[in-house]
Amino acid sequence: MKYVLVSGGVISGVGKGIIASSCGLLLKTAGLAVSSIKIDPYLSVDAGLMNPLEHGECFVLDDGGEADLDLGNYERYLGVTLGKDNNITTGKIYQHVINKERRGDYLGKTVQIVPHLTNEIQSWVERVAKVPVDESGRQPDVCIIEVSLGGTVGDIESAPFIEAMSQLQRRAGKNNFLQIHVSYVPLIGSEQKTKPTQRAISDVRSAGLRPDLIACRCEAPLEMATIQKIAHACQVEQGQVVGVHNVPSTYQVPILLESQGFLNTVKELLQIDAPSMQKDPK
Ligand code: ADP
Repeated sequence: MKYVLVSGGVISGVGKGIIASSCGLLLKTAGLAVSSIKIDPYLSVDAGLMNPLEHGECFVLDDGGEADLDLGNYERYLGVTLGKDNNITTGKIYQHVINKERRGDYLGKTVQIVPHLTNEIQSWVERVAKVPVDESGRQPDVCIIEVSLGGTVGDIESAPFIEAMSQLQRRAGKNNFLQIHVSYVPLIGSEQKTKPTQRAISDVRSAGLRPDLIACRCEAPLEMATIQKIAHACQVEQGQVVGVHNVPSTYQVPILLESQGFLNTVKELLQIDAPSMQKDPK
């Protein structure tokens, strides 16, 4: 199983969900079976009782699960049917761990956020990632995990998820885990400012995660000088910086990513050879 973690933090609504869906769609065009999991670090168990004016409409899944609208994007972009377990919230994970504790599953142990909650997040992801979600009934080759890391990485809400993802990154191994961090490049006049991206990447790294690709949302197409500056400041190759400017329809985002060689970069980083993965979908 290969994992693609799509994280973002500078501001909400930066386009994480669209980039995660587009990445999944491109992997699907390479012949891979793709699933997705959305992590929402709030204490509500699901989106069903949240104010739609504040949070957006609630998306109802086939199994009755009430989830964030992004789950609908995944279903449309990837042609899959997801279930309530494809949306993890802090509320659901706590409820699950507390139910296990009440059943006596931890055999007298002191149940703690680390390791019990963080282990549960990882086992949930590993279990749900393998569930077939398309008509072929094939076990997915790749699971896209979308997580909001909040305003800053020190954010209390997302801390257990960041810890769990950094453990999963180590456990999955080098070519089985890829992280795309979505950042924002604001414009002052016509000048593209890179400082928020530099800070965001340094925060994510200090939390133990290592983004492989930096996706920069900007109102205008990223200038070469901006790409070079981000690559230099964040110590990555220029090919690891991807520009995602405003487009009239979000269905153009996969084309925009592909015009920058996105699929080849992802396949290279994950060492994906689509035909052989189909024969041996581990
Ligand atoms: P996040 O997951 O970071 O909260 P979303 O992916 O849900 O963000 O996107 C937030 C909003 O921005 C949505 O209404 C989406 O349609 C829009 N959007 C995302 N990417 C782009 C883009 N490249 N150009 C124009 N609109 C976009």
